[in-house]
Amino acid sequence: MSIEHHPTDSMLAAFAAGTLDHGQHIAIATHLVSCPQCRTFTRSMEQVGGAVLTSLLPAAMSNDALAKVEARLNKPMRPATMAETAPTVPEAEVPGLPKFLRRYQFGNWKWIAPSVHLQPIVLPYDSDTRVFLLKSGPGTRMLQHTHTGIEMTCVLSGAFSQDGSHYGPGDFDLGDDTVDHLPVVDPGQDCVCLVAMQGDLRLHGLIGRMVQPFVRV
Ligand SMILES: [Zn+2]
Repeated sequence: MSIEHHPTDSMLAAFAAGTLDHGQHIAIATHLVSCPQCRTFTRSMEQVGGAVLTSLLPAAMSNDALAKVEARLNKPMRPATMAETAPTVPEAEVPGLPKFLRRYQFGNWKWIAPSVHLQPIVLPYDSDTRVFLLKSGPGTRMLQHTHTGIEMTCVLSGAFSQDGSHYGPGDFDLGDDTVDHLPVVDPGQDCVCLVAMQGDLRLHGLIGRMVQPFVRV
């Protein structure tokens, strides 16, 4: 697997420091599963972080620190909703899905546009980021779109082209409100991506304006 598109160093550093929100953490982790180069970088960042921590003088614990930890541990988990009780996704259905994602609950596939389907992943914690699988048929010309927030995309299987670049399994793409996407899926097989998206999707063009009212990503 030849990976050409990676998260930025600052994103990997934020991942190592644990400061990304849960949805974005999943998107970076998905890339790391298939990218030895970024794994090495992230490990080195974690070692730097560990060295900084051990060099710090020990801080005095507050008297109620233990009680606070116990209170958090005893806190009941968020009750499961209908979507959360949906069956997990069978492995054969989504080639390239990392193993760590199999412990998440998946919603049902839903139609977004011709040849384009979306399957939400239910996060166990509140997150500003929505995470979902996006499956597009061979040769699909996706609707041109921008975002009101940050969008992280990691290719699981298949491939697409966008702005003169080609994205295959493991490749990572970052979109924000300055980027106008017009991805085209390669012929021959479905392209499945994991997407972590903040904000809303804005579709352009006549078809986009027609479809927008029905698209609830
Ligand atoms: Zn990488």
